[in-house]
Amino acid sequence: MFWWASAFHMEHRFTKDGGVATREVEDIFADILDRAKALDPANARKWFENLMVLHFDGGSLGIGCPDEATVQFLRDNCKSSFTRAAQQITGHLVTVDFNVDTNKKFDAGYRRYQPSLRLHPDYTFENFVVGPSNRLAHASCVAVSQSPGNTYNPLFVYGSSGLGKTHLLHAVCFEAQRRLDNAIIQFLSCEDFVNRFIRAIEEGNLAGFQSQFRTVDVLVIDDVQFLREREHSQEEFFHTFNALYNNGKQIILSADSPPGKIPSLEERLISRFNWGLVTRIDPPSYETRVAIVQKKAHLRGLSISDEIAGYIARKVHANIRELEGALTKIYAIAITNGQVIDLELAQTALEGHIEATARHISIIDIIEVVTSHFGVRLADLQSKKRSQSITEPRQICMYLARNLTRHSLEEIGGHLGGRDHTTVMHACSKIGQVKDSDPKMNALLNDLTKQITQNPRA
Ligand code: ADP
Ligand code: MG
Repeated sequence: MFWWASAFHMEHRFTKDGGVATREVEDIFADILDRAKALDPANARKWFENLMVLHFDGGSLGIGCPDEATVQFLRDNCKSSFTRAAQQITGHLVTVDFNVDTNKKFDAGYRRYQPSLRLHPDYTFENFVVGPSNRLAHASCVAVSQSPGNTYNPLFVYGSSGLGKTHLLHAVCFEAQRRLDNAIIQFLSCEDFVNRFIRAIEEGNLAGFQSQFRTVDVLVIDDVQFLREREHSQEEFFHTFNALYNNGKQIILSADSPPGKIPSLEERLISRFNWGLVTRIDPPSYETRVAIVQKKAHLRGLSISDEIAGYIARKVHANIRELEGALTKIYAIAITNGQVIDLELAQTALEGHIEATARHISIIDIIEVVTSHFGVRLADLQSKKRSQSITEPRQICMYLARNLTRHSLEEIGGHLGGRDHTTVMHACSKIGQVKDSDPKMNALLNDLTKQITQNPRA
């Protein structure tokens, strides 16, 4: 038995005056948490402090969480960093698992909901900063969450990527679930809806699919622009919509554009989406961005000055996801070097990154990674071929070159068979759009970018 395991058992045997043993387990666990935060700064949260040791023996560490949302978040995002941290701190192989701490008396913060609802624990109304850019969308979501089916139905929230649509939709689910104990809430991405529909057809279980979606109290579907060019799914969605609407059930939708601007969306769906309230989220103002940086820092247990928050907010303006990325970068440097976060550190973290990227990456690096991923040759990319299997990698090369190097549109076109700048521009906007609507493309671009940036030739 490992020394820490025996320490933990001692605590059971000698609880009366065995404070030392308890402390040891707690101290070890605190070290593990610190290490896990350092290993994965992007997912480090202040609420890690509320986690408890459920058991810690036989090479297995059970971690108790206040609710199902945190269990899911930790399992999905933090299992490997916690496992590595536990291994590094104890010097032994440790398996880690997360479960709701059922011994604990649940306090007001406890969120009870169906485990099938996969919600991000950060995405609550409490953690959402309200400003002029999102005030209406926020207010509508609050109203709907307080009285599903009775206010705006459907509620349609739209805006560009990274402005908080998914966050608001999760917040509605949390709140609706808190208010209505037995309400059946279904939250899913549109892609998920389409995939489940296709699977149901393949398995000959359309009835099962229909009863699953037509009997809920609240149906939330994120990123409905994904319905474009999916005729059969649109048809099914139309009937689902009608069934729910006619029964007074709440429907909440999000998309990257208003209903009428979603390409090839059926007219009858556009008209239904407009029945209720359509509300837009705009890019946040400077003041809102500062407040968001502060909020996100607070969630990570950091306190940063207004000056630094202001610096980050000036540096990143279009997208809140990137704002968070910038904060994570700063946090990562601070935690690995044990430095306090000051303006200089923030500047090095953000400026250093942009310059390093621009200095080291060449178009050749990008082409190498992309051609090897798609199994095509450079000569094909440079040729006049227009088949999908060649066009897509070519456009991805252009997009990545535009984003990762400082080459002009003309130079990028020159490397890829002497194409002119409008072709490159078109490719960049096309890939950018697909990226925003298709998680697979998003993941692919992230993966390629990682390969390119982690392995520069120069
Ligand atoms: P979208 O679904 O519109 O692409 P998300 O909801 O995924 O955007 O938001 C991206 C990130 O920005 C999330 O981490 C989210 O918490 C954060 N975010 C967006 N708007 C706000 C806000 N007003 N307050 C706090 N965080 C926000
Ligand atoms: Mg989203």
